[in-house]
Amino acid sequence: MNELKNESLCALAMSEGRNWMPFTANRLVNGRGDHRVVALAKGPYYTMADGRTVFDSLSGLWCTPLGHGHPRIVEALRQQAETLDFAPGFQMTHAPAVTLAARIARMAPDGLEHVFFANSGSEAVDTALKIAIGFHKLRGDGGRFRLIGRERGYHGVGFGGMSVGGIVSNRKMFATVMMPGVDHLRHPYDHAHVAFSKGQPEWGACLADDLERLVALHDASTIAAVIVEPVQGSTGVLVPPIGYLQKLREICTKHGILLIFDEVITGFGRMGENFASQRFGVTPDMITFAKAVTNGIVPMGGVIVTSEIYKTFMSGPESAIEFAHGYTYSGHPLAAAVAHTVLDIMEEEDTNARVRALEPVLEEEVHSLRGLSSVKDLRNIGFTAAIELSPLPEKSALRSVQLFEYGLQEGVLLRVTGDTISFGPPFISTPDQIREMIQKVRNVLLRCEEDF
Ligand code: PMP
Repeated sequence: MNELKNESLCALAMSEGRNWMPFTANRLVNGRGDHRVVALAKGPYYTMADGRTVFDSLSGLWCTPLGHGHPRIVEALRQQAETLDFAPGFQMTHAPAVTLAARIARMAPDGLEHVFFANSGSEAVDTALKIAIGFHKLRGDGGRFRLIGRERGYHGVGFGGMSVGGIVSNRKMFATVMMPGVDHLRHPYDHAHVAFSKGQPEWGACLADDLERLVALHDASTIAAVIVEPVQGSTGVLVPPIGYLQKLREICTKHGILLIFDEVITGFGRMGENFASQRFGVTPDMITFAKAVTNGIVPMGGVIVTSEIYKTFMSGPESAIEFAHGYTYSGHPLAAAVAHTVLDIMEEEDTNARVRALEPVLEEEVHSLRGLSSVKDLRNIGFTAAIELSPLPEKSALRSVQLFEYGLQEGVLLRVTGDTISFGPPFISTPDQIREMIQKVRNVLLRCEEDF
């Protein structure tokens, strides 16, 4: 077995496509050899198998805000593995999961009091959607089955998350098996009005009125929940206009519709607060989380719900299972122990304050790219930013491959989706590292401008 870890066998297995990679143009990547294989990670850097060091401009996939190989997190994992590596989470539990739930509830906005654990963002979203439908049913309002997502929303790849999601390339192969009764709001970002905005755009709260349009179309009595990312992350940092989320909240409350914030990216400090809902001053009925809670070292996800939702489930017949849902690894002891250490570090180092201090640095640096001929828009909020490039007829896909390649050559790992490059650097980044990252990105863009 050991020889299968051998590097030349790694190259062979890669060229043969043995590892069918997720969200990847496999045929393109498989032929590219070592510079697409990561060997090591430390702090905010990866070292590729060919020896190149690259800056981790997206904290993995938005999930390693404290950097890689943090000794305290590694130690927490080791200790927990020695003490209690696994226990069933059905009809019993363990201290790491229970105390973590209490801790996350304490960090959440007031009123969100109970946590249901899952193992990923996709599972968290599907769990939240099922809770929404179950909640209405238990209250004798079972006609509320419709779910409303948003264009350009990303809520993972389960059937629920995919259906409420708004990314056409993820949906089109499965059009015939989407969940029924799902509709979408328009996305809240209109270039014509808000390009090059810093932080929240001033224009666009009126786009939340789209929800009234859907209520008028379907009737409120058929709608269970609305799910949105407070800041749409995966499709390129689409920032909510001032007042937009407040308006969504008002319309949901008025019509008895549950509001779910998918905070898989924004949760645990990315917006300079524990949750984006606190930054924007809007409290949803449920928050989904994943990624940063364990700093990416082991998977974990979950849903935080209001006491009203929890009590509704708990007021059914005694001794029955109130919610026939859960995962073998819900609240896994290793994930829970690691999450405690991650949250300890975040508290001790006040990473929320650190993010608030880094926000203007990233803002200034990203907006310094204005004027480059390929740049169509720049936007930022919290410790996230995006560069949107002018689309190239027929050639955008080729350019995105080239952007990634040039990034590796310049020393920055780039997350390119379509015409957009997204940034969510680790919270441990220094201002100098952010400046250096954007300098590298400038070089990448200039090289691409020559080519295309
Ligand atoms: N929701 C949001 C907002 C996300 O950004 C993601 C992942 N990028 C998911 C859900 C899905 O998470 P996972 O990949 O862990 O299933």
